[in-house]
Amino acid sequence: MAKYVIVGNGVAGMRAAEVVRREDDTADVIILSEESHPFYRRPQLADFASGAVGESRLWAKRSEYYVKQRFDLRLSSKVVALDAAGRSVTMADGGTVHYDKILLATGRRVTGGGVAGSDSPGVNHFKTLDEARVIRDMDGAGKAGLVYGDGLVALELVRALTSAGFSTTYLVPGAALWPEVLDVDAAGIMASRIGAAGAEIVFGAQVRAVDADENRARGLVFAGGDVLSADVVGLCAGYEPALEFLPDAGGELMLGAGYSTQWDGVFAAGDVTESRDNRYFNWLRSWRQGEAAGAAMMGLPFDEPSRLSTLNMAPLGLSLVAIGQTTVAYRSGFTEMRGDYPYGEVYKKLVFAADETLVGTLLLGNIAEAGALEEAIRGGVKKADLPAGLLHQMFDVTYRVMARGVQCPICKHEIQLGSDAAAGDLVTCPICGSDLRLVDGAAGFSARVSG
Ligand SMILES: Cc1cc2nc3c(=O)[nH]c(=O)nc-3n(C[C@H](O)[C@H](O)[C@H](O)COP(=O)(O)OP(=O)(O)OC[C@H]3O[C@@H](n4cnc5c(N)ncnc54)[C@H](O)[C@@H]3O)c2cc1C
Repeated sequence: MAKYVIVGNGVAGMRAAEVVRREDDTADVIILSEESHPFYRRPQLADFASGAVGESRLWAKRSEYYVKQRFDLRLSSKVVALDAAGRSVTMADGGTVHYDKILLATGRRVTGGGVAGSDSPGVNHFKTLDEARVIRDMDGAGKAGLVYGDGLVALELVRALTSAGFSTTYLVPGAALWPEVLDVDAAGIMASRIGAAGAEIVFGAQVRAVDADENRARGLVFAGGDVLSADVVGLCAGYEPALEFLPDAGGELMLGAGYSTQWDGVFAAGDVTESRDNRYFNWLRSWRQGEAAGAAMMGLPFDEPSRLSTLNMAPLGLSLVAIGQTTVAYRSGFTEMRGDYPYGEVYKKLVFAADETLVGTLLLGNIAEAGALEEAIRGGVKKADLPAGLLHQMFDVTYRVMARGVQCPICKHEIQLGSDAAAGDLVTCPICGSDLRLVDGAAGFSARVSG
């Protein structure tokens, strides 16, 4: 009986395990996770932390599911060493597990981005359910929250803290908000949202260290020595693949064809495969990679990983999709098409290379065209060949009220609805497979995780 070991119980690892089981009913499938919970939906952590959704909404798979699938789930099992020659991994408690094939799906972890003491007790990286629970269990009223960092997780932590009633200060490392993704207009819309949520933004914050004793983090220390104290100290800066257990300590994972690596029988999928400091976390891409890696491990045909950067999220409640190149440097030869945007909180633009090939898009506030544009960018479509209907829908600012869709709260895919859709209907996201229920909202339907 073949023995498959999956390290990491996030979306990539879970999806790969399901593919292995689907293809081989007799395989031994062991899932190792350093966390103590079954698979949950990380994109919902901010809603959970703020108290907007209950814990039951977080669970993507409950314990019974693992039993039914005959997955041997080993929680609180941190892998500390991989012996690629001996085909085994060692756990923090000293135990070993052998494998025929192994998938590394361990995601990424915070390094601190140059801030000393980023691992001090109580520093909140806002990566796990346990960290979200710390915020949920505190009453935010009269308390202070600090967030240092840039990108998706930092913005989610700002959302969680402000919604939970904390007096929140958001310390941005650079002079602009997320400059590799947002241009000046998009960053302006986002900054207004952050301000409206009640957070104070400080740009160019020169944070040097965490102020902590042996028990807990108390605040952040600035370059001049000043300390800003807080009840929640959030650090979401500097990311690297969570691979401290690799055979060559400090070495890089080298990806080969079909999710393979430099070691025989060792595969990798999900956020862990992204380069150091890439802040494009992506649930949907991880799900797709888990699916493909599972097939590759079984020796079946699979989709090659796309190198296209995509981001799908709703920071501060504003839908954001960024695909490929989203900013254009002065005199770089790249051009933009942006119609009359920004229009209120809606902003849409296309980016073209010098030869007029579509190479990127930024959609904020309304992301209805995300799927079609991703396909066009992958296909290297030229400006002149973009469908007129698509451009009309994007750039006629009055058109969007007619679009009938709903956003998946998990992977942020825009799901198209039929004309007979009604509140209370169950829909399944075609991308991540989440079951959702339609609810009436001020601007049409929204979707809530069912169950
Ligand atoms: C607060 C928050 C909000 C987010 N919102 C969005 C969003 O709106 N849209 C979006 O697209 N993406 C979002 N993401 C990102 C998305 O959750 C990730 O892209 C996705 O979870 C990556 O899946 P993964 O399986 O590759 O890794 P992960 O989900 O990170 O899972 C990795 C697993 O490996 C385990 N692990 C790590 N090291 C070890 C070890 N040594 N031994 C054993 N187990 C180990 C971890 O405990 C974890 O269970 C968000 C993330 C966070 C934290």
